[in-house]
Amino acid sequence: MTLDNLKKTRAGLEESIRQLIGHAIMIVELDLFALPCGCSGYTANTRGLALDDLEVFEEHFLKQLKGSAQALEISSGFVFARIIPGTQEIAALNIRELCPRCYSDFAATSGKRPRPDIYIMHLEKRKH
Ligand SMILES: [Zn+2]
Repeated sequence: MTLDNLKKTRAGLEESIRQLIGHAIMIVELDLFALPCGCSGYTANTRGLALDDLEVFEEHFLKQLKGSAQALEISSGFVFARIIPGTQEIAALNIRELCPRCYSDFAATSGKRPRPDIYIMHLEKRKH
């Protein structure tokens, strides 16, 4: 993973989402993160993307996001969108390699909206 790779991934993801939904959106920032609990991944902060867009093209979004995660060498076991509470606006798209504790928390929930600010697109179940 290089910075150049990160830049290309941001631009590529932005372009492919624009083509997919047919109107302009921006990925204003693509961040890699590592949390104290052990989770890591990336956050793509978006502008102009609505929950509607995501629901209509969910399978395509998932494919694009998984592809970009692969380009950054991140495993895409958990893919979700963060929604601005009380709105239909998506603040960010996230790919996360869950730590064991966060995995248990999310695996125990059901449905796509375990919290008002989260829309789960994919959660790979692990064997116990
Ligand atoms: Zn965690």
